[in-house]
Amino acid sequence: MLVASINCQVCANGLVVFTMGAVSGVFLECEECLTGYRSPADLEPFRVEDLDEALRPATGNEVAARGWSRFVLDAR
Ligand SMILES: [Zn+2]
Repeated sequence: MLVASINCQVCANGLVVFTMGAVSGVFLECEECLTGYRSPADLEPFRVEDLDEALRPATGNEVAARGWSRFVLDAR
């Protein structure tokens, strides 16, 4: 899991990780409250459980391809 350096705007205490959606592409997801964010620059929240697509942890290359490597805080 690639942990992002942004804070969840909803629960304020969850880990926000980069997730890859089959349709959505790379987005951010709070592991605690399942709030999603489309990009580090657009923290308008949506509900991850509303998505109807396959999800998996994003890879470093996928995050880099979006130009978001500087938002990676940690890899676990
Ligand atoms: Zn949260």
